[in-house]
Amino acid sequence: MKLEKKFGTQCVHAGEAPDPTYGAHTIPIFQTSTFVFDNAQQGAARFNGEEEGYIYARVGPNTPTHAAFVKKIAALEGGETGQTFSSGMAAITAVVLSHLEQGDHLLSTNVVYGGTYGLFSSILTKFGIEVSFVDTSDHENVKKNIRNNTKLIFLETPANPTMIVSDIEEICKIGHDIGALCVVDNTFATPCFQRPLQLGADVVVHSCTKYIGGHADLLGGVVVGTKDFIKSMTSVVNSTGGTMGPLEAWLCIRGLKTLHLRMERHASNGMKVAEFLEAHPKIGWVRYPGLPSHPQYDLAKKQMSGYSGMISFGIKGGIEEGQKVMNSLELCSLAVSLGSVDTLIQHPASMTHANVPADVRTETGITDDLVRISVGVEDVEDIIADLEQALGQL
Ligand SMILES: *Cc1c(COP(=O)(O)O)cnc(C)c1O
Repeated sequence: MKLEKKFGTQCVHAGEAPDPTYGAHTIPIFQTSTFVFDNAQQGAARFNGEEEGYIYARVGPNTPTHAAFVKKIAALEGGETGQTFSSGMAAITAVVLSHLEQGDHLLSTNVVYGGTYGLFSSILTKFGIEVSFVDTSDHENVKKNIRNNTKLIFLETPANPTMIVSDIEEICKIGHDIGALCVVDNTFATPCFQRPLQLGADVVVHSCTKYIGGHADLLGGVVVGTKDFIKSMTSVVNSTGGTMGPLEAWLCIRGLKTLHLRMERHASNGMKVAEFLEAHPKIGWVRYPGLPSHPQYDLAKKQMSGYSGMISFGIKGGIEEGQKVMNSLELCSLAVSLGSVDTLIQHPASMTHANVPADVRTETGITDDLVRISVGVEDVEDIIADLEQALGQL
């Protein structure tokens, strides 16, 4: 009998098997660009899809190292299979290019990662794809903004950097009623705390650069979905070449083995830092899905089982006070990116979201006073002491 394994066990074991050649316990890094065929007929069969197997590292399934990572992340997300990419942006690009064509409409959460905003607003529109950015935290808004050519709904929840939460289940129902593909960027929550495919989504995308890698030492992206969807991406994958390297695939496997442990600590530290900030007299506001003050607190509780280490907050005064605090930190690193074992802090309006026009930033809550912190897995007392001394400089 095959026992259904719990999440932490799957993090450690899913996709893992001793190497069939030498029995290596840990999967090797297959640092190769190409694979040798037994004979010309086999090469032809691999190319025409009659035989599964490796061909060349740019084309799926890339190498055995990539295949093992895909098995593990697909198991954790509860999806059939996946495809790796050189970055989160390459993954999102491949999904939209595979599914959309001229004349189609893409409906996206209005607050998304800056690179995603740029891809949707400046690049897709050049090729005749209609794009609208909608406040998806109210699913009625999604209904109102659906068009008869809406082919893809893209949700980022919790959203970077305002932490707004969108109802995956309700919005996927709306999307499926009109036959749209529902895609969720699950980078902030990870499958440890949110499983979009179980809530009805068709496709999950990740920036592996963040919590999946977990140590701020790689760039990567992954798409998880049905075998049919991943197959539908083949021509874009093969012909655009945003390929993950074998070392990155191996590091992602290694990162996922401790995802459950890291996320538990990111979440408990996140909660304590959020509570500390909310009680601090120099802080104007705090956005963390685990705080009752979050506007979608009940929804977050319903669709998430934890809240990771991502917090946004506003320092009273504004950007100058925020910069002063960021410049005074000693333990926390002033750096973009997120989801690393160490605490990172940044200012979205002038950094990760500087490419979003100022009026759009104001309208969507990416205000100039917003500071984003990615709480790491250090001892939380040290993180809080650092924030306290920096706020004390004001
Ligand atoms: C970082 C990020 C991306 C882009 O990922 P890269 O690996 O940097 O290309 C996409 N979505 C979200 C939510 C992110 O935080």
